[in-house]
Amino acid sequence: MKILAITNQKGGVGKTTTAVNLAATLAAEGQRVLLIDMDPQGNATTGSGITKKEALPTVYQLLIGAASLAEVCLHTGFAFDILPANRELAGAEVELIELDEREYRLRNALRANRGEYDFVLIDCPPALNMLTVNALVAADSVLIPMQCEYYALEGLSDLVETLRKVRAHLNPRLEIEGLLRTMYNTQSTLTQQVSSELESHFGSKVYKTIVPRNVRLAEAPSYGKPVIAFDKNSKGAQAYTALAREMIERGVAP
Ligand code: ATP
Ligand code: MG
Repeated sequence: MKILAITNQKGGVGKTTTAVNLAATLAAEGQRVLLIDMDPQGNATTGSGITKKEALPTVYQLLIGAASLAEVCLHTGFAFDILPANRELAGAEVELIELDEREYRLRNALRANRGEYDFVLIDCPPALNMLTVNALVAADSVLIPMQCEYYALEGLSDLVETLRKVRAHLNPRLEIEGLLRTMYNTQSTLTQQVSSELESHFGSKVYKTIVPRNVRLAEAPSYGKPVIAFDKNSKGAQAYTALAREMIERGVAP
């Protein structure tokens, strides 16, 4: 089992889009996948077709110890499982401070289930808070979605610094799994410059697969579907299928 935190402190870079669509394409490739929604926005939950009513208890109850993983886990209609989240998760921030092992709550909750899944994908919120710290402590590695824009590399050095601190104090095993270029615009020379700079800094850590800007990816969540179930011939569906295959080929599966 490989546990991946999909993270970037910068907002709106495609974390949730990547989490939901990669969960669906890895599952379509025959992998056993669990998606964990660690964002109180709950976008990965609704984007996977889980309604507010179904999503009780949630990751919130799991983190505070009021429910077990089995009680929180739901099957989506897309061959992967999910630990859902909703607004209530925002409260965990404060409540966790009072609890033992507050940084280790997610890791401890997952420990019992090692072996049931090939991939566990954690969708992180756009902040370095206690929820993100729990994700980084539970994870084996991080998948970093990024837009190839002017400030992207600066944001990335903040993230690399965060990972260094987490490694030093909380999770020495944490690695960078890969950097994913999202919302890619082939027309822009700036995008291409940032992209090649990224390759020269991070080499083979940059996925060969590039996710283009594709309107079907933006439309699919409002239908509660990953893009492969919404428009499987779209460029977005093709890209996330290619990413799943690239990840499996890289040999991250057990
Ligand atoms: P947050 O930081 O708020 O959690 P995020 O990093 O999870 O955001 P997303 O929610 O995945 O980012 O994406 C931000 C917006 O961009 C969404 O409206 C999403 O539908 C859209 N989007 C993501 N990827 C693409 C893409 N490749 N092409 C077109 N639109 C995209
Ligand atoms: Mg998100």
